[in-house]
Amino acid sequence: METLAIRVFGDPVLKRVSEKVQNIDESLASLCERMLEAMYQAPGIGLAAPQVGISKRFFVYDYGDGPKILINPEIVDTDGEWEYDEGCLSIPGLSWNIVRPKQIHIVGYDIDGREVSIEADELESRLFQHEMDHLNGKLLLDYLDEEQQKEAKKVLRQMIMRQGNDDPLGPKGVQFP
Ligand SMILES: [Zn+2]
Repeated sequence: METLAIRVFGDPVLKRVSEKVQNIDESLASLCERMLEAMYQAPGIGLAAPQVGISKRFFVYDYGDGPKILINPEIVDTDGEWEYDEGCLSIPGLSWNIVRPKQIHIVGYDIDGREVSIEADELESRLFQHEMDHLNGKLLLDYLDEEQQKEAKKVLRQMIMRQGNDDPLGPKGVQFP
């Protein structure tokens, strides 16, 4: 089967709030396998469903100890602050220093429908927060100040148009905050 294409900035699916997964079944499992394949190929350490065009609340990840899946995740607690140079597979080639909570407690379900509860710190915590943002239609650009946003959009616009796609910002760039 063909590798899933990772959607990039400008694709409206990345701005959508995803819906809860209703059934944890075989088709979800095989979709997750394909997402993991795309994630490893990128390469990345996490990939959320909207990044492959699916508005559902789940993501795959591998924080160094094998492939994992988190379904209908919720962050139930956060603590501290941590700055980290954060990038995104959907915004290729760019990254920014972004401050987020240092530690989080996240809960959800695995692919067998079992409840999962994880206390994560630093990079692992950052990974989960980043994927959660994707499920809520939020991108790294939303964390930047006006000047940084302008600069980033200029670069992205050139990059995307070089690839022969439509102008992601539309006429006069009015579509994106
Ligand atoms: Zn991302």
